[in-house]
This record gives sequence, C-alpha cells and structure tokens, in this order.
Amino acid sequence: MSQVKRAAYLIKQSKFTVCFTGAGISVESGVPSFRGEDGLWEKYDPSMFEIDYFYKHPDKSWALINKIFFEVLKDKKPNKAHFALAKLEELGYIKALITQNIDNLHYLAGSKNIVEYHGNSRMLVCRNCGRKFNISDFDLSSVPYCPYCKIPLKPDFIFFGEMIQKEVQEKSEQLMNNCDLLIIIGTSGLVYPAAFLPPMAKKKGAKIIEINKTFSEYTDKIVDVFLEGSASEILEEILSELNAH
Ligand SMILES: [Zn+2]
Repeated sequence: MSQVKRAAYLIKQSKFTVCFTGAGISVESGVPSFRGEDGLWEKYDPSMFEIDYFYKHPDKSWALINKIFFEVLKDKKPNKAHFALAKLEELGYIKALITQNIDNLHYLAGSKNIVEYHGNSRMLVCRNCGRKFNISDFDLSSVPYCPYCKIPLKPDFIFFGEMIQKEVQEKSEQLMNNCDLLIIIGTSGLVYPAAFLPPMAKKKGAKIIEINKTFSEYTDKIVDVFLEGSASEILEEILSELNAH
C-alpha cells in the first residue's frame, strides 16, 4: 500500500481527526518564515517583539510590526493545501485544526473549527479592557489606540514574553487528548510550547500522520505514516483517494 493510501485509510477509520499546522503550509502562499537562513529573525532583532518593548516604545515597535506583518500578509492568499483542509473538514474527515500560523490563511480558506495557537493578524486587542477590533477599522500606518482606554492596541498574536492564552491552551490540549488521529503538516517541532502538543496525542494512543518536506523532531519519535513532499500535492492526493471510495 502506498503511503498516501495508508494515510487515507487511517483518516477513514478515524472517528476524531485533528490537524496541526505550521509555517511550512504557508510557504506556497509566499508567506516568509521566521526561522532559518532567510527568516525574519535573521533580519530583525527579536527583542523588538518583546511585549514590554512594545508598550515602552509603541511608535518604533509599530512601524516594524506594520512593515513585516500587516504589509506583508495583507495580500497573501490561501493555497491548495489550506483549501484541501477546509474541504476535508466540510466532508467530515477533520474535526478541528490547530495552527501555529498567524497569517489567517486557514480562516480565509474556509476552515471552521480552528484554534489559532499564536493568535491571528486580522484583529487588534486592548490589553486593558480585552476588547478586540478588526484591523480594517484602523489606519495601520501609525499606532492604533483603544477608543475606550486610550492605550495602544496590540496585534492579536502572541509576542515574545507573552503566555499562550489560557482558553487556547486548554482547547488545544483537549483536542490532543481526544483525537484518535493527528495530521502534522509543515512544522519542524522546534517552537515551544506548541511543540509539546503532538506528543500528547501520541501518549493517548492516537495515530500520527506527518506531511513535511524534511524530517522534523517528530518523524522518528511519534510518526506512524510520513509523507514527504509538498503539502498541497499530498493533501490533494489524499482527497482524491478518499473521494474515490
Ligand atoms: Zn481598551
């Protein structure tokens, strides 16, 4: 049996499949990565993305945030891999998706039950009153302020020095503990605490499928079926395998 057939078989057998995605799934959409040789952290000082720095130097910090996040992400579109996952959810094969990405692409592709582990880049949040605002309601060329509290609004994604939101962490752990199949896509397994999640599923007896261009931290340790290559091609093959039967 080919690896794609094995994966499709596991998906069919499963009663509760969860997906866990990382930066690799958005590469074909042209989203730059943070890590690695050409990554953003090679060009910019990560300390400028510390939460304390943001509130101490909002103007300086905002200029950079606007340039490397909002300006870069505003015209990015979901690719075939994002659409294939939305389709798998629509067909009932996937129950939930946890993404480490803040690029909104699963959301734009139409996935419904998404946990955005590191938040997203379409909303702004006030750390004082907790209100959230859509970025489209603000001119992002200068620091946006909470209309109620008059303090700078922060992008609704996790900064260095910030904790993962409690309800997001709880929902993610619950999904890992309840799934009987986990599909890991486009993640190296090096970013913590997100990287702790997949081993939780394994510990509870879930089968693990991995789709990646190269081996990750998980491949040798917890993965049952490893599919090497482009996420969009492999997911489309899996979809047609599922449709064929
Ligand atoms: Zn406020």
